[in-house]
Amino acid sequence: MFKTARFKMTMGYVLIVMILSIAFSWGMYVILRQEVQRFAQFQKVRMQHFIQEEQRVRPPYAPPPEIAVQFTNPDLEEEALYRIQIVFIGLNIGILILATGLCYLLAGNTLAPIQTMVDEQRRFISDASHEFKTPLTSIRTTFEVALRNKTLSLIEAKQLIQENLREIENLQALNDALLKLDVYQKFHNGHHFEVLHLDQIVESAIRKITPLAKQKKITIHKELTPVSIFGDASQLNELVVILLDNAIKYSPKNAAVTIITYKERSNAQLKVTDSGSGIPESQLPHIFDRFYRVDTSRNKNKVAGYGLGLAIAQRIAELHHGKLSVESKVGQGSTFTFSLARRSSAKET
Ligand code: ADP
Repeated sequence: MFKTARFKMTMGYVLIVMILSIAFSWGMYVILRQEVQRFAQFQKVRMQHFIQEEQRVRPPYAPPPEIAVQFTNPDLEEEALYRIQIVFIGLNIGILILATGLCYLLAGNTLAPIQTMVDEQRRFISDASHEFKTPLTSIRTTFEVALRNKTLSLIEAKQLIQENLREIENLQALNDALLKLDVYQKFHNGHHFEVLHLDQIVESAIRKITPLAKQKKITIHKELTPVSIFGDASQLNELVVILLDNAIKYSPKNAAVTIITYKERSNAQLKVTDSGSGIPESQLPHIFDRFYRVDTSRNKNKVAGYGLGLAIAQRIAELHHGKLSVESKVGQGSTFTFSLARRSSAKET
């Protein structure tokens, strides 16, 4: 598809270049032809004048006027025009060859980002449909088997519905995450950006995540230096919740998670540290990719998730011109750092 598009685009560009080049050459040829004819005419008049002058001064030796007219030589004029034509044809052939090469490169460069985007979209659709397919097939099979079971009691049926409701809730969460990612992908600048206090955002994220932390008996330690930033409160809240949620999900029971905010030169920094499973070094570059889940014997299929949280967090960081990075050691834990430009505010000083 892209090869045909590149070919068509090249043809289009070349056509435009050649139309311009031929029109320019034709215009130049017409001007030069007029100049050659004018020059020939001027030469002819000058020669006649010169001969007449000669005749007047020395009448016995003056050549007949017909011979004088031959001095202007019409063949010479034709040859000059022919040479000009050849030069222009050669020039246009050269431009055609050069333009084809350059336009092919230009078309390739123009189409490259579109191709990357289309490939990415295809991969995204295929990954998303794969994530939906597995639980949907499982729900369908469970119901089909239950329908065929003539001895299924009401209690068993209710239990079955209960289990599948959980699967449906997960699918809903997946759908919400996909929609969120799509919305953030469309944003290019912050419509709801305002001066905010990062420490207050963290406080509100901690309140949101506390029930989950309590379930696993995880303690959240916080050291929050007041620091002002410019951003979207709900997006930043979501970013902090994602980091805290992961820190809790990938930590063992009774563990501790630390969250700190501080100033570093002109930046506001946020660090979330856990002592959980950690991430192998080889997989660190991929964890921000959509649908990427670390595949280790420690956490394979044990922790619920679709590999979209960090992709959303990364996108939010991008929208705030910030940077999200990670340091991790398997078995020792991970530290996620979010850094963005800070704003000066009266409350900070
Ligand atoms: P998920 O919904 O699977 O948690 P994320 O995009 O949030 O998706 O994370 C991607 C992967 O990165 C996770 O599957 C997990 O393997 C790894 N990961 C993220 N945060 C942590 C953490 N704090 N500790 C260990 N592994 C983590």
